[in-house]
Amino acid sequence: MIRPLKLPEIAKICEGSLTSNQQDLEINRIFIDSRQVFQPSKSLFVALQGAKANGVNFIPELIEKGVKSFVIPDSFDPQGLDANFIQVANPHKALQAISASLRDHFEKPVVGITGSNGKTIVKEWLGQLLQQGFSVVKSPKSYNSQVGVPLSILEIQAYHQVAILEAGISKVGEMQALGKMIRPDLGIFTNIGTAHDSGFPDRRSKIQEKLQLFKDSKLLIYCSDQEIVREEIERNFPEDRLIAWSDKEGADFTRIVKKEVTETRLIFIKKDLSTHTFRTQLRDTASLENITHCIIAALTLGLPAPKIQEGLNHLKPVDMRLTLKAGIRDCLLIDDTYNHDLGGLRVALDFMKQQRPKRRKILILSDFLQQGEAAQIYQEATEILKNHQLDLIIGVGKEIQTLENHQISSFSWFPTTQSLLVELKSFNFENDLLLITGARIFEFEKIVNQLQQRIHGTTLEINLNSLTHNFNFYKKLLKPQTKVMVMVKAFAYGGGAPEIANHLQILGADYLAVAFTDEGVALRQQGIHLPIMVLNPAEESLSLCQEYQLEPVVFSLEFFQLVGDWSKHGGQAMKIHLDLDTGMHRLGFEKAHMEDLKELIQEYPQLSIASIYTHLAAADESHEKEYSISQLKDFEEMSAEISAFLPEKPLLHALNSAGIVAFPDYQFDMVRLGIGLYGVEVTGNYSSELQSISQLKTTISQIKDLPAGASVGYSRKGRLPVGGKIATLPIGYADGYDRRFSNGKGYVLIRGKKAPVIGNVCMDMVMIDVTAIDAEVGDEVLIYGAEIPLAPLAEAIGTIPYELLTHISTRVKRVYFLD
Ligand SMILES: *Cc1c(COP(=O)(O)O)cnc(C)c1O
Repeated sequence: MIRPLKLPEIAKICEGSLTSNQQDLEINRIFIDSRQVFQPSKSLFVALQGAKANGVNFIPELIEKGVKSFVIPDSFDPQGLDANFIQVANPHKALQAISASLRDHFEKPVVGITGSNGKTIVKEWLGQLLQQGFSVVKSPKSYNSQVGVPLSILEIQAYHQVAILEAGISKVGEMQALGKMIRPDLGIFTNIGTAHDSGFPDRRSKIQEKLQLFKDSKLLIYCSDQEIVREEIERNFPEDRLIAWSDKEGADFTRIVKKEVTETRLIFIKKDLSTHTFRTQLRDTASLENITHCIIAALTLGLPAPKIQEGLNHLKPVDMRLTLKAGIRDCLLIDDTYNHDLGGLRVALDFMKQQRPKRRKILILSDFLQQGEAAQIYQEATEILKNHQLDLIIGVGKEIQTLENHQISSFSWFPTTQSLLVELKSFNFENDLLLITGARIFEFEKIVNQLQQRIHGTTLEINLNSLTHNFNFYKKLLKPQTKVMVMVKAFAYGGGAPEIANHLQILGADYLAVAFTDEGVALRQQGIHLPIMVLNPAEESLSLCQEYQLEPVVFSLEFFQLVGDWSKHGGQAMKIHLDLDTGMHRLGFEKAHMEDLKELIQEYPQLSIASIYTHLAAADESHEKEYSISQLKDFEEMSAEISAFLPEKPLLHALNSAGIVAFPDYQFDMVRLGIGLYGVEVTGNYSSELQSISQLKTTISQIKDLPAGASVGYSRKGRLPVGGKIATLPIGYADGYDRRFSNGKGYVLIRGKKAPVIGNVCMDMVMIDVTAIDAEVGDEVLIYGAEIPLAPLAEAIGTIPYELLTHISTRVKRVYFLD
């Protein structure tokens, strides 16, 4: 919230009546989801009546958890409940009124985005660009509705410098309410498409309704090449408030698109003939349209062109909702089973065009739902399809059958998804490129499931969405200016370094750290451009550090001198990091070294000190808090002494994952996030807030029924006194399945049921007791994952989650998901 509000103030804003004995209580958090309780005493719960649940039903439980203040509908009688209540006619309207009032207190620019397609992408990308120069807040996900917008406004904090809010509507009259809350200073109208036509008499009125958002905006950015959009905008707004861009001459920004082999150049010519040129990896029409809106908005908000370019260099397509999956028999699948309208189809087909060529290009698509004038839509769809030379189109649903009449080559039709599933084999897909796109209710994921390559044996599935979730969780605990270094040492805690590093680059991590130089070199070779710190560089690897721009940690006087001499003779400057030992007693300079260190710093000016850090020995142990604090205090002192001595202020950092949670006052300039990102919260305070990012899975190779008295495995350690059934799994200690899990110490999940290890874990196999489970050969087996958390498992064999994660062998295939 941009500022705290007192209860009487809130009651006044939403025209409610307050019953309270805590008139002075300051509210600094407002929430509507009863599962999200934190800072309960200072939170206000707004009890909305949802389709599935009624907020008032959660009030007793929330009071139990310490929540003291509620907005409730008049119809609800709070008698007997001990809390503060604001009774209102309509809690939803109250929520909107509160957010509108908070918006009024934000004096920095608010960007409002609406249009038919691309809103979320424009919002995300604009956020990425503006982050190069401002502290940005934006609507989460696609929170653009009558509830999403107020929640987005509640995200705004006093320190933010620009807010980007998205507005979406589906019928007449909705935009006015959104406009009152958002009141954008700068508007972006993305485009107009066919989605939600059914809520409006015609396209013109749809545009007019959307334009309500910009009623009081100082400026409005739009593309004047969509004739109907141009007409409506020019009719409704004075010229001096408009910023038009166009691929034709004469607009405020005339755009020239030059597609080259490796990149696209976008040249903008302004009316005064000044020009800006930007380079981007984006190529398809829709993405280029989206990024053009963003670039012009960023220029308008005063972000310098080089910063915009910097942002473009790091830009990654967000939330395209398209995933590439390996299919059976060398097919490649584009999974777009999420979003289905004409705009989406265009984007997906463009995406298809960018894939490497295969034998046939095949499209599987469903009816377009919820879109008004069917005839017009299928006419337009036909045009789009004719433009993309597809070898086969498979349509599913009643309406899509009309494509048969449009003379599209090779069209197959099925009334339902089920009927297609039955016939799927007959298409003999092989080495084909398939785009599978359908409306949600058609459940096309069933088709994807059948066509997806089954990976046999043991795999480690990494969910990149969960990684994002965990990253954002820690970001929320940090001050906005605190930088994040992510530890991707040891193959990113077993998760697979290049993919995770690439994803972190997208998420906006500031630094990476690896243990050894080779790990850094591998990342550079995979195209990772973030700065990389090397914790333990060997002397002989310094030239590799130089060549690959890796930044070594220097932890002793001898090593400082060595690196200094090396760089002096090589004649090249080098960035280094200093490790201070304040109590870990592993590597690092101690207090006694300070004077010598200062001398060395002077002696070797070509070594520039990028950062100074220390490492806490027991950040996760609450009973060692005093020790940690004394480490942090020592660090503060020692680092200040060195810093005072340097031409440029280095970054200071001390906290690891546990430290971030335990010592929020010691964030310094940066933190070093490790295990938490991978889903393990070692202090135990927030375990439920993190998501497990990986699942180690395998399948059953064989099942045996054994008679009473049988033994299982080496040394006959497993025993079945009354007989039973065992399953053999293709995973052993060489894959990282710890041998200490032998003889019932470990267990796995099969068909949701726990099954213990029987006998000794072998090198490449393990046997499991499945006497009580109806298991079959080929069944999937979960080894680690959300349902088998690592912490207790590690404890059972006397180790820590770090060890289990990092031991998963590289021979285990990693598969990455992003949905
Ligand atoms: C590994 C490591 C970290 C990260 O620790 P976590 O407990 O995994 O968060 C931070 N700093 C240094 C120096 C490390 O070696």
